[in-house]
Amino acid sequence: MIQSIEQLCDLVELSPDDLPIAFDTDFPFKVPKHFANQIEKGNPNDPLLKQILPGLAENEIYPGFSPDPVGDLAANPHPSLIHKYHGRALLIASPRCDIHCRYCFRRHFPYEQAKQQHWQAALESIAQDPSIKEVILSGGDPMSLSENALIALINDIEAIPHVDTLRIHSRTPIVAPHKANRPQLLKTLQQSRLQKVLVVHCNHANELTSESAELMQQFRQSDVLLLNQTVLLKDINDSANALIALSKKLFSQGILPYYCHLLDKVSGAGHFEIKNAQAWAIFEQMRQTLPGYLVPRFVEEIAGEPYKTLLTDPSSQGIKPTT
Ligand SMILES: *Cc1c(COP(=O)(O)O)cnc(C)c1O
Ligand code: SF4
Repeated sequence: MIQSIEQLCDLVELSPDDLPIAFDTDFPFKVPKHFANQIEKGNPNDPLLKQILPGLAENEIYPGFSPDPVGDLAANPHPSLIHKYHGRALLIASPRCDIHCRYCFRRHFPYEQAKQQHWQAALESIAQDPSIKEVILSGGDPMSLSENALIALINDIEAIPHVDTLRIHSRTPIVAPHKANRPQLLKTLQQSRLQKVLVVHCNHANELTSESAELMQQFRQSDVLLLNQTVLLKDINDSANALIALSKKLFSQGILPYYCHLLDKVSGAGHFEIKNAQAWAIFEQMRQTLPGYLVPRFVEEIAGEPYKTLLTDPSSQGIKPTT
C-alpha cells in the first residue's frame, strides 16, 4: 500500500506542487502499490493517476450531483442487503476497498453500518425469499475480507437451496492481483455447486498486467465466468480508441466486457462526467470496430428503475431528451 500522496508523487516522479491536489478530503486517498506501479512516470495526465489522486475539482459543485444518486441510501436504512432488481440481491460483504476511486458513487455511503454482524440478517432474508436466485457480493470490495471470512460467507450462501448463482463484484483482482490470489478461495469456488461469476472493474488497458492475467487464468480454472465493468470517465477512457484497447486486452486475459457505466451523479465527481451524446458516439464507434461480444452494454442507473437502463441514441425521435 502507498502510505501517502507524497510517497505516490515520489514514485511517479511528479512534484505535488505542480498538481491540483486536495489533501484534506472526507474520502481519503488510498492506492495499492501494484496499481501505482502502472502509472506512467512524469505524466500528470496519466489515466490511472487521475482515478486515484484527490483533486481540487472534487470541491466544485455540479447541479444534479448528490450524495446518494442511485437511491441506495433511501431504499436501505440497513444497507447490508440491497434488493432492487428481480431475482438477484446485492450483499455488502465488506465496507472496505483496496483502492479509493475518486469517482466512486459509494464515496458517501455509511459503510460503518454494514458490518459483518449484519450478514446473518441479510442471509436470513435471502433464505426467506425464494425469488432470489443470485447473490451478488459487493461492497466496498468483498475481496478486502479475509480469505476465511469470504469462504464462510460463500458456504452460507451455498446452503440456501434456491440460490443457484454466486456473483462477486471486485476491483481487487485488477488493482492488487496478489491479494486476490487465494488458493483456498479458488478451491471453494471450484467445488461449489453454484454457478460462479466474477465481475472485475477495470477502466483502462494499462491497469491489466501479467499478474492480473495469471490470476484470471486461475479463476477460469476454477470454473468462474469473468466479466468486466467500466465507468466512463472524462479524460481517462472517454474515447473509442481507449475502450477498444481495453476490450481487446480484457479478452486476451479471458474477460468479457459487460457494462460500461455512465457516471453516477455523486457529489465530488462532476468533473468526470461524459455527456450521453458523446457516450453514444463512442458506443457507435465500438460497434463498428469490434465483434459484438467485445462491446459492453452502455448503461446508466436511474434511481427507482428495475434494471440498469440501456443508453439510447440521444438524437433519435420519441426518446426522452438526454443531456
Ligand atoms: C447493478 C446491480 C445489480 C446487478 O444488476 P445486473 O444487471 O444483473 O448486473 C443488482 N443489484 C443492485 C442493487 C445493483 O446496483
Ligand atoms: S473499488 Fe469500487 S466501491 Fe471501491 S472505491 Fe473503487 S469504485 Fe468505489
